[in-house]
Amino acid sequence: MGAKKYGVIKYEDTLLISVVGQLDEDSVFPTLELSGIKIVELDFENMAMINSCGIRDWIAWLREIPEKIQLIYKSCPVNLIDQINMVEGLVRTGSEIRSFYVPYYCEACDFISNHIVTSAGSWKNFRPAELGKCQKCGQNVEIDVIESKYFKFLKRF
Ligand SMILES: [Zn+2]
Repeated sequence: MGAKKYGVIKYEDTLLISVVGQLDEDSVFPTLELSGIKIVELDFENMAMINSCGIRDWIAWLREIPEKIQLIYKSCPVNLIDQINMVEGLVRTGSEIRSFYVPYYCEACDFISNHIVTSAGSWKNFRPAELGKCQKCGQNVEIDVIESKYFKFLKRF
């Protein structure tokens, strides 16, 4: 089962695309009507997983979007950020990553929660250690990634 149902909404000069389900070899990418479009927003809030076949097809699909169109990535889940850090071209140069998730771990109750960080909250000045209490038990949580690796992509975008 791939990401078969992509939501595509046109709003003035912006196209909003929601990636739903799995981004894999079965994914069927929407054909885009791009006349008059200046911005394409890609929303990953409902993406379940991504694999190498999905990435390959995704990169090919991105090439169909002219360079002059601004790409904005929203609500990038942890598994996508891991891939963005490893794979060149998953996000093309000049794109904006507007928001993404950071995983936190609670030692007291073993609970992992993901916190969204948005550029509106100036994530370039983001200080991971300042974030949060456990949603379940209220104890302090710790960031659940190696910061130097996980935030590597911030230097590129
Ligand atoms: Zn907890």
